[in-house]
Amino acid sequence: MRYVCGHKTPDSDSIVGAVALSYLFNQLDIKSQAVRTGDINVESQFILDKFSLDKPTYKDSFKNEDIYLVDFNNYEEGADDLKEANIVGITDHHKMGGIKTLNPIDVWVCAVGCSNTIIKEMFDFYNINIPKNLAGAMCCAILSDTVIFKSPTCTKIDTKACKELANIAGIKEPKKLGIDMFNIKSNIKGEPIDKLIRRDFKIFNMFGKKVGIGQLEVVDIKVFNDIKKDLKTGLNYIKEQEGFDTCLLLLTDIISVGSVVLVATDSLDIVEKSWDIKVKDSEFWLKGCLSRKKQIVPYLEPNFKK
Ligand code: MG
Ligand code: MG
Ligand code: MG
Repeated sequence: MRYVCGHKTPDSDSIVGAVALSYLFNQLDIKSQAVRTGDINVESQFILDKFSLDKPTYKDSFKNEDIYLVDFNNYEEGADDLKEANIVGITDHHKMGGIKTLNPIDVWVCAVGCSNTIIKEMFDFYNINIPKNLAGAMCCAILSDTVIFKSPTCTKIDTKACKELANIAGIKEPKKLGIDMFNIKSNIKGEPIDKLIRRDFKIFNMFGKKVGIGQLEVVDIKVFNDIKKDLKTGLNYIKEQEGFDTCLLLLTDIISVGSVVLVATDSLDIVEKSWDIKVKDSEFWLKGCLSRKKQIVPYLEPNFKK
């Protein structure tokens, strides 16, 4: 059995990617199953429900088993025993993260806005038709990862793939569907602070320092007005408890295009230097910032190098 799995704390690209790839591999007579190493978020659940797709089963151990990675390619974001698994392939759109393999593997890695864009190309490459409901879900994953084509990570290849998938699925207004999805994500009422911070939280090793960067993408950043103080306290608590040097939480406004970045850090000078800003009241504003991958990590990480 080949397990297809996205990163820990899965997002829609990871969930839909696992479903889409396992379908493709099964069509190619490779017995495959979509799995996940974490809870399904509200957006992914909306997509699965809308297109009547089964949710991948939970699996957090892959020792001596075949695993195909989607939407990540490092050990840190995978199951704890990923180093003992047999990684058979990767479909991803992140920087290379240092995976070592015993055997030759398939690698589909491109600098595009979404793994599902690459998966669309894989279907075309293998000449396999994409079922209508799966195409709809893949279209949603691209809308999510590219922030409805606004993110600097979005390429022409993404918009083209998304359009083609929307056509297959019979979705007339993909952008409207995108807004519906972000509205669902924006409803944060009643969500515990700790859960909110960890909803889309990634852990990085930056030249020996443990750095956590979370992101909450909403249609109106004002939804955070009442809880910003609690988010800062919560972020600081996670930093202290879990041995982080730095924790950032991006509160991203996808309409006005920018992020308030909440900061808990032992390296204030490094944070300030990275974007040439001043942190005031444990936060700063980054105009135009939508992407952790392109506008946060590459600016911050080099400054941790001694
Ligand atoms: Mg992802
Ligand atoms: Mg992705
Ligand atoms: Mg994202």
